Amino acid sequence: MYEAQEKWIEEKNVKISEYCYICNDICELSKEHYKKPELPKQRAKNDKNDSRKELVNAAYYFLVRCFKLELLNENLLRGFCDQIGTSIDPNDLK
Ligand SMILES: [Zn+2]
Repeated sequence: MYEAQEKWIEEKNVKISEYCYICNDICELSKEHYKKPELPKQRAKNDKNDSRKELVNAAYYFLVRCFKLELLNENLLRGFCDQIGTSIDPNDLK
């Protein structure tokens, strides 16, 4: 994704307007109205695994909250947890 975006920006000479918090829009005072878009950060494989874990955990806590609010029954909760590849802490079912 990073490389494709970098290539696209170079080829098309993409520039985005720089938002100025004083002018509340494109800056009227600066000549540098446009700049190159920022590229996505490249993440190492370990970082990606960490990101995935964080995402699964966040989804899990969201599902448990839905269960406690009785928006999901236990069967649905188990189904969704299976889908995201995590198990249920029995303490969360109380
Ligand atoms: Zn300005």
